[in-house]
Amino acid sequence: MPGFHPTDATYDPDATRAKYLAERDKRLVPGRADIRDLRTDEHFARYRDDPFASAIERDPVADDVDVVIVGGGIAGVLAGANLRKAGIKRIRIVDQAGGIGGTWYWNRYPGVMCDVESYSYLPMLEELDYIPTRRYAFGEEILGHLEAIADRFDLVADALFHTGVTRAEWNEDAARWRIRTNRGDELNCRWYVLAVGILNLMKLPDVLGMEEFAGRSFHTARWDYQYTGGGPHEPLTGLEDKVVALIGTGATGIQCAPALAESAKHLYVFQRTPSAVGVRGNRLTPPDFARGLEPGWQRARMDNFQAIMMGRPVEVDQVDDGWTHHYAAVHHPPRREGMTMADYLRSGEEIDYGIMDAHRRRIEELVADPTTAEILKPYYRYLCKRPCFHDEYLPVFNNPNVTLIGCPGGFERITAQGPVVDGKQYEVDCIIYGTGFEAELTPLFRRAGHEIVGRGGVTLADKWADGAASLFGMMSRGFPNLFVMPAPGQQAVVTVNYTQLAVLGAQFIGGTVGLLDQRGVEVFDVSAEAEGGWTQKVVDSFVDGSAVMSACTPSRINNEGHPEALNPRNANYGRGFGNWFGYRDLLEQWLEAANLEGLELEVRSTAS
Ligand code: NAP
Repeated sequence: MPGFHPTDATYDPDATRAKYLAERDKRLVPGRADIRDLRTDEHFARYRDDPFASAIERDPVADDVDVVIVGGGIAGVLAGANLRKAGIKRIRIVDQAGGIGGTWYWNRYPGVMCDVESYSYLPMLEELDYIPTRRYAFGEEILGHLEAIADRFDLVADALFHTGVTRAEWNEDAARWRIRTNRGDELNCRWYVLAVGILNLMKLPDVLGMEEFAGRSFHTARWDYQYTGGGPHEPLTGLEDKVVALIGTGATGIQCAPALAESAKHLYVFQRTPSAVGVRGNRLTPPDFARGLEPGWQRARMDNFQAIMMGRPVEVDQVDDGWTHHYAAVHHPPRREGMTMADYLRSGEEIDYGIMDAHRRRIEELVADPTTAEILKPYYRYLCKRPCFHDEYLPVFNNPNVTLIGCPGGFERITAQGPVVDGKQYEVDCIIYGTGFEAELTPLFRRAGHEIVGRGGVTLADKWADGAASLFGMMSRGFPNLFVMPAPGQQAVVTVNYTQLAVLGAQFIGGTVGLLDQRGVEVFDVSAEAEGGWTQKVVDSFVDGSAVMSACTPSRINNEGHPEALNPRNANYGRGFGNWFGYRDLLEQWLEAANLEGLELEVRSTAS
């Protein structure tokens, strides 16, 4: 990665740790993680509305199908595609959105893109014979690609959009799931697939007085182009005479800030914690990119990235970006012979320091005003927070119409005029909440947004009240014929490139349904032994990182400052994604063995 390397500044452990802890403490304030529950909040109900498409009136659907998939994002589309490959005919995707795309349907804010390399992030490139136009794809391209996959596998015609599942209940007599929706539909299905996503619940902070704000406000996941004018790549002409407050400086905030700065009369960026903003280095795909690519190249490329993320040796770093250089380096510092654990931890800290120092130097180079530059500097370890990558964000603060407001302790309140920080009222016309989503620490049953009732009337929420219990994080005893797409925090694994995990999960579901069909299985359930064994594996491999993570600035990665409260049962399979007994190896070997080990099977009397 040319031109952006860890500095060789001398590392002073005591001074650095003290500074990091002092910065952490400014942010560890009571109520920092309090949110308005946007699923039910009456005052902010309009925040949930779809600004991109109106719901079409239709009669309720009563139907009996092979599969219902909840969620039409990457996970749901890939699950659908693989079920088609397994020969499944009747598939209905159900989604609250007005179309395919999931997060890429909802997130259409100006500048939206994916900072994971496109050649690994956009799935099924080989099958669709598609090469992304840029190294990092904009949201529209990703959305278009997911729509193309859905078309290829005929997943749209039967989909029910602008439709939310309200309840799913296993009907023992019929050996079917019975699904009800908020549009009055009643769908019966043999297989039920939860592909609800990890970032599907918008997070709106609970700030004193926020409902009194008299101007316009919205969340970045429902961008209000009617108000701002313009489009993802067009000037936001509606903001020319408007003073705008952007709250949030995570991956979303930094991506949309440059467009806001370009168009708004004035932009206030309210920053609670600065992101570490590394080099993006986006570029058009070279015309000869596809030349010489062998079949299987995309899996190999994903594997190359994954191997580096897991600290495994590779011959060539095919991706060669901030993830593979910095993220990998801090998570897997080299272990030299003869090192004690203390040496190893200290060396990890030094590497981390060099990388964070380089990020702080980059700010000094790009931001002219030293006071603003200082507020933008991240003082915590790189591993404490999801890193960001952007080349246009930091220079935004040189624009005369942009003001950065540091608010490490959050807001005092929001009044009819706008936010108040340190006793100062900022008068604005519009507040844009780039405040993110409930992430992996939000249990699956909350993200699913509906009651899932299994055998004996037991709900998934009840069963998982003290932590997840599953086989592979994808099936759970007492919930027959139910598959859950794998995700972090539910006994599966974490991957920087989520698509790779979704590809695996979808292949697993398609492959398993294919095997069940071959064997004439009507109903499967997970055996108590298999579920207990997997859950124990997850618990046994749980690494309590709270000693390191409690020194971090609060974020979702350390449970907002309380890493000690993490439940090992809601953790991930400790051997990681792939190779050497990794998660993918286990799932692929399980499929290859074709004996459906760990499942209890009820075979139908007459093969259909
Ligand atoms: P985020 O990372 O959760 O950031 C939310 C921002 O809102 C943070 O700056 C946070 O400050 C701030 N905030 C929250 N509550 C606040 C309060 N009460 N007062 C003041 N500030 C407050 O959300 P995001 O940027 O939307 O990203 C969410 C996730 O989406 C990311 O982690 C990433 O996985 C994904 N994403 C990915 C890409 C990509 O390019 N791949 C792009 C966008 C999003 P603190 O930092 O202090 O909490």
